[in-house]
Amino acid sequence: MSDDFKSARHWARELISAALLNGARAIDATMGNGHDTQWLCQLVGPQGHVWAFDIQQGALDHTKARLEACGMAGRATLVRDGHQNMAKWVTGPVDAIVFNLGWLPGADKSTRTQPDTTICAAEAGLSLLGEGGLMTICVYPGHEEGAIELERLRAWAAQLPPQRYDAMIRAYVNQPNDPPVMFAVRRRPGT
Ligand code: SAH
Repeated sequence: MSDDFKSARHWARELISAALLNGARAIDATMGNGHDTQWLCQLVGPQGHVWAFDIQQGALDHTKARLEACGMAGRATLVRDGHQNMAKWVTGPVDAIVFNLGWLPGADKSTRTQPDTTICAAEAGLSLLGEGGLMTICVYPGHEEGAIELERLRAWAAQLPPQRYDAMIRAYVNQPNDPPVMFAVRRRPGT
């Protein structure tokens, strides 16, 4: 695949970087090894806060170590629970939410995001987004569950009320092997 246009994760990072200010509140819905959690902690700065979710204890252990190594552990709350329950742990409004679906590279592939809980989590995310808040979701349609997630998310995003949300998809349309796809949903300011 050509690198010129970059990939879904890059697109998501571009949008979030442009939107997140110092002091912001953000959620990493799929903590994994904590790369995105660390990046969000950097963006929100010492006055901001990040909540990160994963169902695997290993993800929390890795991420905790990663944040401690760069002195940012105090900026994050790591939660071992499904992202579909995020509203039980975080009080809105939040400025940004990132999802990177699928499984953790190098770990057990059976512990991966599932279409039903992904849709519940996207709904929960919307309920927490403040005005102008942004949610990005990277989906991997190259495997069966990911292809289902893509279609479910497409249908879900398409029915969001346009007065309140801007919802979009960014995807390659001509590349082999079903490259990752990015969804972005923004709650419109003033709504
Ligand atoms: N953003 C991570 C990679 C995420 S991989 C990084 O930068 O390293 C996807 C992660 O989602 C896996 O760690 C998996 O355990 C987690 N996951 C699967 N189902 C979940 C759920 N229902 N809630 C929260 N996390 C989940």
